[in-house]
Amino acid sequence: MKLINKTQIPDSEILELIKFAKPASVADNFTAVVKEGKNFAGFTFRYFQRFSVTMEKTTYPTIRNPLPRKGGYLTNISILNETEYLLFLLSHELQHMASRKHTEGSCDRYGLETLDRWRKAHGSA
Ligand SMILES: [Zn+2]
Repeated sequence: MKLINKTQIPDSEILELIKFAKPASVADNFTAVVKEGKNFAGFTFRYFQRFSVTMEKTTYPTIRNPLPRKGGYLTNISILNETEYLLFLLSHELQHMASRKHTEGSCDRYGLETLDRWRKAHGSA
């Protein structure tokens, strides 16, 4: 696995989150790009083992998709801090990597499940 990190977040933290979020079926030969931008976003390449997530500056706690969004995404996802937001986006993209057939809704659900598992593991739920 190769990490291209263009943020101030330490590589070690991103690698820990990827390890925590990665479905067992995803092989390790992928590239993850983490960058900063104007919107929180994620993108998984269709024909390459590569995804990217973009982190926006915001204040926490925050809500992802407060309004309904085209494409079957879940709404009103509660995000407590930057680590959780990064974990959610990484989980979503890793679920796309697990199968290109996963819908946006199922990737968001996997992101929520991973967040829940993270909160339980770290005593914040
Ligand atoms: Zn998606």
